[in-house]
Amino acid sequence: MKVSLLKENLRSKKISPKEILEDYFKKAKDINADINCFIKLEEEYTYSHLDFDNYEDNLSFIPGVIKDNINIKNTITTAGSQILKNYKSPYSATVVKKLGNFSLIGKGNMDAFAFGSSTENSGYGPTLNPLDKNKVPGGSSGGVAAAVMAGASAFGIGTDTGGSVRQPASFCGIVGLKPTYGLCSRYGLIAMGSSFDVPGILAEDVLDTAIVLNSIAGFDIKDSTSIKVKKEDYTKFKDVKNKKVGILKFPKEGISEDVLNAFDETIDLLKKSNIDIVEIDMKYISHSLAVYYILVPSEISANMARFDGIRFGYHPKGEFKDLLNFYKDARSEFEDEVKRRIMIGAYTLSQGYYDAYYNKALRVRNIIKQEFKDVFGKIDFLLSPTTPTLPFNIGEKTKDPLSMYLSDIFTVPVNLVGYPSISIPNKKIGNLFSGLQIISRPFEESNLLSFSYFLENKLWK
Ligand code: GLN
Repeated sequence: MKVSLLKENLRSKKISPKEILEDYFKKAKDINADINCFIKLEEEYTYSHLDFDNYEDNLSFIPGVIKDNINIKNTITTAGSQILKNYKSPYSATVVKKLGNFSLIGKGNMDAFAFGSSTENSGYGPTLNPLDKNKVPGGSSGGVAAAVMAGASAFGIGTDTGGSVRQPASFCGIVGLKPTYGLCSRYGLIAMGSSFDVPGILAEDVLDTAIVLNSIAGFDIKDSTSIKVKKEDYTKFKDVKNKKVGILKFPKEGISEDVLNAFDETIDLLKKSNIDIVEIDMKYISHSLAVYYILVPSEISANMARFDGIRFGYHPKGEFKDLLNFYKDARSEFEDEVKRRIMIGAYTLSQGYYDAYYNKALRVRNIIKQEFKDVFGKIDFLLSPTTPTLPFNIGEKTKDPLSMYLSDIFTVPVNLVGYPSISIPNKKIGNLFSGLQIISRPFEESNLLSFSYFLENKLWK
């Protein structure tokens, strides 16, 4: 059920918090048995932690799923990796604290350490797409998206480093918001690429997304990259009809016919609604994926150093001839994609190659930032498909990491520049959906959500 409706039913006493819990845990168990969307259900934790008298928080009693790379005090937080299977969080992430008295249904399945686009890299088995169980739900927040689509939770919190909220939202037919870098605190998120990561929201519609953003946005002294902005009510949608909309010009090869047609139809619909549209040709954006897959693994290899079996992670027992053998044993618990990313990052940061790869990529990142700035001097929103294809089959891309990386072609540029963007369902195609991505200027989430709400109504009502 939608967050907005649950809030209404709680207010009018049509439903009690206990009824919500009973109903959702029952559903969540069945759904989980079917599609493996949770790494752990948190029934015991939630019954003992929820304050049954506190109706005051924005999300009091609303059932949510939290991606398992976000710390919640006294719960096991695995980040989807076997290396953390026994790791109990000593503290809660700021976003979790800001959700207040919500009902935690479970921890969402994910690609280990958020490295992936299909949730097949999880150390706890893949999640299946609830719309078609032969398909992937997207990733890395695939468990969260699947749980929300299947009705095991009303909303979810994921993380987005290169598309991990928007891409699974698109694959599961729901809404996914990646806020501006700095709007929502990263404190308590298990870091992937620290200059890219943001917590994000997955929900059934734009209004629910705005309700959740009202809770999690805001400055946090514990995150040095958090920015002070004035508090807004994101559910107060504004009139956006006179805004200028850009349509991203992109090469058509590799983009499926279904996706292209759905996108073109939406552009036509906008034109008919007298929206001011211009085509935007960006010269440097095509380098985004290459830049991302140098900078992010570099940051990953630095961030992953703490999982050495001493500071964090599986601690091997027994006698070791030397430290190297100890490390080898501890870090053998890493999943394959984790090892791959650490190796790429160690290489791009190594003495002989640092300038050729890491520094060069940083420079290109700045050029892309400047290009975004120029473009957003002329337009208010930039539209593209969210993903180049509809959800692919389970197993289809696991042997070919490069084709997996290509599924982020539309989402990755936004993380390079820190802008906010959202994916909303664009069109139903068979049982599946294709997604529409909308990007706006930094810290203009209020406009972004207003325009998304307008489009959602045009497309679906
Ligand atoms: N799929 C992308 C990657 O593998 C993005 C992941 C993410 O946003 N966490 O890097």
